[in-house]
Amino acid sequence: MSRNATLRNPRLQVAAFLGLAVVLSFVTIVAAMRLAERGAEAELRRNAEFTLGLQVETILSHLDKYRHVPALTARRQDVLAMLADGLSAVDADELHVIASNVRTLSGATDSAFAAPDGMSMTSATGYLTPELIADTELVRAALQGRLGRASLSAEATQHTYAFSTGVRLGRDVRAIIIVAAPLDSIEQTWALSPNPIIAFDGRGQLVAGNRMARGRATEIREAVFAGAGASGDPIALPDTGNARFIPFRRYIPLMDWTLFVLVSDRAIADAGRYAATVTGLGAALATLIGVIIVLSLQESRRRHRLERLTALRLERQVRQRTGELSRSNAQLAVEVEERKLTETALRKAQAELVQSTKLAAIGQMSAALAHEYNQPLAAIRSYADNAQLFLEREKTAQVSDNLSRIGAMVDRMATLSKTLKSFARKPRIDLADVQLEQVLQDSLLLIEHKARAAGMRITCEPDRPGRLVRAGPVRLAQVFVNLISNAIDSNTLTGADEIVIAWQADEVTTTIRVSDRGPGIHPDDVHSIFDPFFTTKEVGEGLGLGLSIAYNIVQDFGGKLSARGREGGGATFTVVLKTAAETRQVEPA
Ligand code: ADP
Repeated sequence: MSRNATLRNPRLQVAAFLGLAVVLSFVTIVAAMRLAERGAEAELRRNAEFTLGLQVETILSHLDKYRHVPALTARRQDVLAMLADGLSAVDADELHVIASNVRTLSGATDSAFAAPDGMSMTSATGYLTPELIADTELVRAALQGRLGRASLSAEATQHTYAFSTGVRLGRDVRAIIIVAAPLDSIEQTWALSPNPIIAFDGRGQLVAGNRMARGRATEIREAVFAGAGASGDPIALPDTGNARFIPFRRYIPLMDWTLFVLVSDRAIADAGRYAATVTGLGAALATLIGVIIVLSLQESRRRHRLERLTALRLERQVRQRTGELSRSNAQLAVEVEERKLTETALRKAQAELVQSTKLAAIGQMSAALAHEYNQPLAAIRSYADNAQLFLEREKTAQVSDNLSRIGAMVDRMATLSKTLKSFARKPRIDLADVQLEQVLQDSLLLIEHKARAAGMRITCEPDRPGRLVRAGPVRLAQVFVNLISNAIDSNTLTGADEIVIAWQADEVTTTIRVSDRGPGIHPDDVHSIFDPFFTTKEVGEGLGLGLSIAYNIVQDFGGKLSARGREGGGATFTVVLKTAAETRQVEPA
């Protein structure tokens, strides 16, 4: 597969997109996780710093109450009076009463009067002892005239913070007053915190801590001073499950304390996990949307390609069809041309056929025509001879009669010859307004000899004379000659002698009927008699072309030729022609 084909493979495209999406999602998730963790850590740090600041303030304000108690006690007149002769001269009970009084009034854990060397002491509750304060600043500072401060812890649980002041009479320090302030209330305020809060003094001794911290004080101390916690890294604590705690510290210089707040890093991990989950879901959603987009893009590309293919196929089909059409068009044009040529040839052949049938008819008639001409010629001969005799006998009246008979016969012969000539002539193709009566007379003249020889009676019944029709006179005469000739033949078969030619006309058409009393037409032959070469006549007697030609001639005139049986026997041939416009105008409506 080429590189391009590989790129176009839809499955590979989706796979590539998914691969890219997975890589991008992974990078985004990791980045989001880190960012969230960093944010959460910063938030934790802020909270822890805030807590530390707040707790330092709490501690300082809490201890502030006790800070002035030793100084105020040292200035009390009764105390000064009592100590005028030094601590050793004072009755221990009396001292105890005052110490108790101070402790009760201030709410301190204990208050005590110590000798300036710190070796003997009278305390209200017995908590303060020379041993407890031995390593502290309390005595030294009091002797130097400063406020002494020290963190004290008698047992693991009894933590206090003590203040001390010297009771001076003049330049001498007669005694030292120590007040030990309780840290319980501070611890109580810390008890609500879910995080371990703990304070160590300068020697690393636990001075205060909430419940969470106290039980694990040793581990915390080790971790925050020497272990991983020293550099701020998370530390593990016993009995806290998998949680790890980040130590935040604040040093309180005034008291030489270090206050620690240990915050579980679970929030950081949770924030990371939450961010990873949210980002992961987002990435999955984005990938899903991406896949849907890729798939729909592929689908639309596929559809587009399919549409283009279909369009191309259609175009090709249209081109093919157009090609086929133009080929068949060309073929049709050729065929039309061929048909035209054939029609022309047919018309020519038809015209020639008409001509030859006419000539054949004339040929058939020639014997009769010879007789037709010979008879008048013989008559003329005898009239001329007789006229000669009458002339010699000077019978001029008979001569004149004979001469006029001769003239009439010559006229008849001339008419016959003229009609024959025009019948034999090739007809004109165009139509004219033709005198129907005249054409019928010409036809009858041509057929007269045949009719006479067969002993036929031909009756002509025009509706009115002077009728004009649209036709060619010679061709129309040919039609009538043919119809009358056939009628004679038919009558001969039955021995009948009646032929009737009748016509009627209206504005539009003129109908001419030629009827005989022959055998009629068999119903099966009504249409086939107009087919070329259909004949029932003996070989040599008929060609079967007469009616076919007559049919075509009438059709050329825009008319119709039909045949039917006649009531009472015989046949009627009907020629329908167009009435000439001139007649229509002349005739009254
Ligand atoms: P042909 O006269 O040479 O046979 P036509 O085309 O003139 O050719 O006539 C075809 C046929 O039609 C005739 O052979 C005849 O059978 C029939 N026919 C024509 N005229 C008549 C008629 N008047 N009565 C009966 N049959 C006729």
